[in-house]
Amino acid sequence: NNIVVAIDGYSSCGKSTLAKALAKKLNYIYVDSGAMYRAVTLYFLRNNIDLNDHDSIEQALKNIHLNFHSRDYESHITLNDEEVSEEIRQMPVSTNVSPVSALKEVRREMVKQQQRMGRSKNIVMDGRDIGTAVFPNASLKLFMTADPKVRAERRYKEIHTKNPEVTLAEVFENIAQRDYADTTRAESPLVRADDAVILDNTNLTPEQQLQFALDRITP
Ligand code: C5P
Repeated sequence: NNIVVAIDGYSSCGKSTLAKALAKKLNYIYVDSGAMYRAVTLYFLRNNIDLNDHDSIEQALKNIHLNFHSRDYESHITLNDEEVSEEIRQMPVSTNVSPVSALKEVRREMVKQQQRMGRSKNIVMDGRDIGTAVFPNASLKLFMTADPKVRAERRYKEIHTKNPEVTLAEVFENIAQRDYADTTRAESPLVRADDAVILDNTNLTPEQQLQFALDRITP
């Protein structure tokens, strides 16, 4: 049977950093489920999809084709064959992704595609509902958390060079808003699965986090 490692947690907790390192170490496929919700959000923004219009949401989902290309364990996503990996990290998508990902039509379609990816290959997938909704039988579930200030500072450093106009306060606010929206939505809210191991990485190096995860993979 193939192995699935599910990594969930709050925004900007270092889920993808750990997931990539783990995938590399174990030679598994890394899947960034957040990138899928972000790409859908980008499509919705570009096409002015009304979030109250269920027919146009369903139609939009039929027109969206997402694909991952992994290069050096960096995951790249295409939206209808256009490389959008950079654009989906920008503020317009970050501030709109939570309401889009709260839509049940959107979740139903993303979960279906994610489950398909985990059916035949060993994967590490990070997100918000991977251990609860997508892969309730995952081999290992981690639930990541960190001090919100530390998270905002880390994310700010990451995006500052390319987006010098974005302030630390804006980044902090966006993280807080997404945490609130993601934990309070009706469809698959962000919650720790009963059998998920908590990893608070406020004071841990990436190497220590990788070791923490490796120590918990059942051989
Ligand atoms: O992981 P990332 O921060 O890129 O995810 C962006 C947003 O996508 C989250 O704030 C959340 O609203 C949504 N998301 C989700 N379920 C997932 C992954 C992401 O609802 N499995």
